[in-house]
Amino acid sequence: MRPRRTDITLLTAALSAALAVAAPVAAAPGSDVPPVSPQAAGVGFVDVRTVVPDAVIDMRYATPHNFVGVPLYPADARCLVHESMAPGLAKAAETLRAQGGVLVFWDCYRPHDVQVRMFDAVPNPAWVAKPGPFSRSHEAGRSVDVTIAEQGQLVDMGTDFDDFSARAQAYATDGVSAAAQANRARLRAAMSDGGLAPYSGEWWHFDGPGAGVQRPIIDVPVD
Ligand SMILES: [Zn+2]
Repeated sequence: MRPRRTDITLLTAALSAALAVAAPVAAAPGSDVPPVSPQAAGVGFVDVRTVVPDAVIDMRYATPHNFVGVPLYPADARCLVHESMAPGLAKAAETLRAQGGVLVFWDCYRPHDVQVRMFDAVPNPAWVAKPGPFSRSHEAGRSVDVTIAEQGQLVDMGTDFDDFSARAQAYATDGVSAAAQANRARLRAAMSDGGLAPYSGEWWHFDGPGAGVQRPIIDVPVD
């Protein structure tokens, strides 16, 4: 039997009432995200899910699906960022959300010893930052590697993450389709809305405020 209009109206009203009751819990963004470790909190790190509740977290270095070929992070690694990136990431996500997109995070805070292992695997400072006696960029939680997903699918950016070829350069045109170039420009525009700076060497890498400043080495749990 087809429901009559009044039945649907009543059902809608009941659902609205139920959602209104549930709203205070649902409205607290990231409230179900466990707190970060005391060490991570102590250096000002936050779990990005508390900043961008609809973020897709795909920590590639927690899997063998990375250029080293083995997991470099614990399996339950989180995307930790310094709190100075939070407003910018929230803004970038808001811009993309209005277009039907979500931010996908491939890497965030990267412990120093992992940076050392990466450079040992690819000792080319054009592609892997040479570890120094200080932290900056990912090692300081002030850079992120991101892309965009729409309806559960990654958008076409022309290359995969950590593609060490000329096509991975942010403004590459050779071998990069017009659609992929436009998608990269869209990602840059959203991140720029949040004051996050693109890196010409890699389309997926963005720097937050003070990312280039050399700071004491940070060694906190990434999970
Ligand atoms: Zn990066």
